[in-house]
Amino acid sequence: MAAIILDGNQIASEIRREVAAEVKTMTAAGMRPGLAVVLVGHNPASEIYVRGKVKSSEEVGIYSEKHTPPEAISTGKLLELITDLDRRDEIDGILVQLPLPPQVDAKTILLAVDPAKDVDGFHPMNVGFLSTQRPGLVPCTPAGILEILKRSNILIAGQEAVVVGRSDIVGKPTAMLLINANATVTVCHSKTRDLPGVCRRADILVAAIGRAGMITRDFVRPGATVIDVGMNTVTDRAEFDRLFAGNAKREETFRSKGSTLVGDVHPEVAQVAGAMTPVPGGVGPLTIAMLMANTVRAAKLRRGGRVPELSRA
Ligand code: NAP
Repeated sequence: MAAIILDGNQIASEIRREVAAEVKTMTAAGMRPGLAVVLVGHNPASEIYVRGKVKSSEEVGIYSEKHTPPEAISTGKLLELITDLDRRDEIDGILVQLPLPPQVDAKTILLAVDPAKDVDGFHPMNVGFLSTQRPGLVPCTPAGILEILKRSNILIAGQEAVVVGRSDIVGKPTAMLLINANATVTVCHSKTRDLPGVCRRADILVAAIGRAGMITRDFVRPGATVIDVGMNTVTDRAEFDRLFAGNAKREETFRSKGSTLVGDVHPEVAQVAGAMTPVPGGVGPLTIAMLMANTVRAAKLRRGGRVPELSRA
């Protein structure tokens, strides 16, 4: 039987609606949440991401401002900007778009963001809060994955979860959220022995690898839930055929654009999984929605007020 497709666009709009309602109430109480986005230089991909974040803020009613220091900025000068944003009371969230140019010490910059305003959830203080189950800010993509599972009524407690990938931004925080939600969690990486065998143990399999269609049907226990975090652009014809042979819609995109977006999970997995997220339209849309939720959460944690359940694991 074909897997149930977990519609990330639908879940993300549900979250955005809830966030917009919270923002409306907070604004009426004189506490409009504010987000500052810092974009250094002109990286085209970063410009697209930042545009999406600013647009989404406007749509849910969050005050937002964009800072665009020049590519050649020094660590010291960027630090001054962050310190200024840290001090401003009307700014609840600070997001420094990565990557930063090579002359900037990215670790120093990220450490300078006030943990209470760290809506990316990357500051070591928030990493510690997550691991010790204290209220804090959780990275957006992992938080989005948990929202997909919970809102799709997929049982987590007591289930075997396998996370492939151990990055600080996706793999590790996802594993921690799943542990906090009482799953039994295994984290895999490039040195894991018998990866397909370990993955087949999973009731919930999360793929955050960055390799197009690497998770094939022999990695998946029939009926498992598969969450595909990967976002890979396929331009090679042979690779396209390995993944999408016979898929007329994809063929059309590939022919017209010369590329297509694919996750880390091979589309054939839909024949064995019980439920899975598509790419595009799965985890991706949740990331910005959770940034909005995090900004509201940061405002409430910092300025007082009932903290919404959303994104709290
Ligand atoms: P990353 O930092 O490159 O980490 C990749 C992880 O995969 C590493 O832990 C690596 O193992 C592991 N890995 C690589 N090759 C492997 C193999 N052959 N077998 C087993 N494990 C392997 O990537 P990331 O930042 O976590 O991102 C992962 C993917 O998610 C990318 O496609 C990225 O574009 C996507 N992403 C999507 C969103 C979204 O909003 N949808 C957000 C963030 C990221 P080692 O640690 O041993 O090297």
